[in-house]
Amino acid sequence: MTTVQPKSETDPQFTAASYERVSRQVQALYGHGLKRQERNVDEMARDNGVVLPPDLRFRDGVDDNASGAAWELPDLDRCMQAARDGRFKTLLIPTSDRWTRDTPKGLWMTRQIRAYGVRVVWGDIPDVPQATDGNPYSEHWRQKMEVEAFMDAELERNKIRWRTMNGRRDKAAAGRVVGQGAAPYGYAYVRDNSPKRLVCGLAVVEVQADVVRELYARARTMAIGDLLQWLAAERIPPPGAGRTFRKVQRYTKNAGTCWNDLSVYRILTSRLYLGEYTYHTQAFPVPAIVPADLFEEVGIALASRKSRRGAARNKTESDEFLFRGRLICEPCSARTGTVVLLHAKRANNMGERYYLCPFRFPRSHGARFDGRPRCPLPSIRAEVLETHAWAALMAALRDPVQLRIDIEDARTRRRLDDHGREDRRRAIEGSIAQQERQLAGAARRIAALEAEGTEQAGEELPIQAQLRDEAKELLVRLRRDLREVQAMPGVGVSADEAAELERLAAMVDEVEVTANAAERRHLIDLVGLRARIGDEGESVVVQVKPKRETMITWAGVISIAGQASSDSPTSLLNFVMQSLPSGRLVFAA
Ligand SMILES: [Zn+2]
Repeated sequence: MTTVQPKSETDPQFTAASYERVSRQVQALYGHGLKRQERNVDEMARDNGVVLPPDLRFRDGVDDNASGAAWELPDLDRCMQAARDGRFKTLLIPTSDRWTRDTPKGLWMTRQIRAYGVRVVWGDIPDVPQATDGNPYSEHWRQKMEVEAFMDAELERNKIRWRTMNGRRDKAAAGRVVGQGAAPYGYAYVRDNSPKRLVCGLAVVEVQADVVRELYARARTMAIGDLLQWLAAERIPPPGAGRTFRKVQRYTKNAGTCWNDLSVYRILTSRLYLGEYTYHTQAFPVPAIVPADLFEEVGIALASRKSRRGAARNKTESDEFLFRGRLICEPCSARTGTVVLLHAKRANNMGERYYLCPFRFPRSHGARFDGRPRCPLPSIRAEVLETHAWAALMAALRDPVQLRIDIEDARTRRRLDDHGREDRRRAIEGSIAQQERQLAGAARRIAALEAEGTEQAGEELPIQAQLRDEAKELLVRLRRDLREVQAMPGVGVSADEAAELERLAAMVDEVEVTANAAERRHLIDLVGLRARIGDEGESVVVQVKPKRETMITWAGVISIAGQASSDSPTSLLNFVMQSLPSGRLVFAA
């Protein structure tokens, strides 16, 4: 082992980080490629005489083989953060297309990381030493080579995308079925005699077609849930059950293991079963499985059943559930390893409102609930919890000292977040200025060449015109990136939000009694109030008759319910008084 060293002992001057964007598809298909990459960055570290600790090897997996333009790259953010904190002074990037395949992003991301005093070492671009005598040419050439490399990477991405897209489109235009993934249920691909054995059509698989016809016949009167029960009772193998080769595990992990409502819904609504194959805008006939009148009848039945459900209240003004999407079931989240949100429901015939875990009363036919233990969390009467939470929130607004600390804290978090955003904005603006200079230079040169009008000048003209056009195009995209960065929401609270909280706190007596559901939800939104329900936190009565209690941990930008619930790291240091069920008062961290 070469580079393992404790964090605290590494000198940033001799510490490197590495960043690579890797394709998950490639990762899944060719595990060996990764080992080679691994060796590459190690070699680069050795050549540059720097240490590359394990926690500074950043790597984002991307889904698309040809992507690299995405914003959501968590490891890239961490890499930037570590650079900002001064953890390392060298960044190793094995090949420039692993940095990004988006030219403007490549430009300003490199600029941003250099602004932190980091030296960027590329595996595929020659190293241009920084001139110490102020000679501008080294900088100029370095930039030129980087732009070229980013453009090449981008071109490559566009080529891949264009090739697959056009290949498929041409095929569809020629009236041939495009083989994308597995054949739809009820059909099998027909392949041609070419050496590649290309997909050219669909043929009916009778066994599956019978199931499709039966599903349609039953769907005239039965809900999808009941259809799922029927499928399970008849032990009908789900789509993809026969597939043995699962190329990309991530997407096909659950394929072929169970029927689900979406797959049944798709079968009942796809015009493919009428014999209409569609690819983008092109449609052409394939063998039908269901007759047109039955298809239509099922369409009407589905629509009529759907309309009974009523409009979704999520995010609408009329939603009475103040904590919709804000309560997390702790036991189920821990068990499943994902965030399990409580559902908001009118549960009994009195129309009483409840928050309850989806695993509390699992539907008997839901494949999602098969073999899962029942959730121990009691159903929560919405009024009881909301009254309690509202009172706690009002109490928090009445505590000026704690409130000021919390708001200041939330402001600090926003400012820290803004700091990174500010650096990014500056880097983009720097790149914009640089491209504007490039554009002005090319324009001047073109004017001069045209005035000259010689044969030699005529030869240089197209080169300058290309430089001008490239700069123009990059400017459009850099300005778009700038707008996007400015529009992104951040953590903590903004100055406006902090001012609004203070204003509400000043008129808390009025707010407490007059606020309607929408206003209450707005305040809850403002402080980002959320709760985890399970074995930790304060004990809260959630049902009155019979009386039931459960433990709740609140989180948000201000602390409510007498505990430091502000989810900032500093509030862990604040000792607060906590009331135990036994009536004793203790100091707890
Ligand atoms: Zn649960």
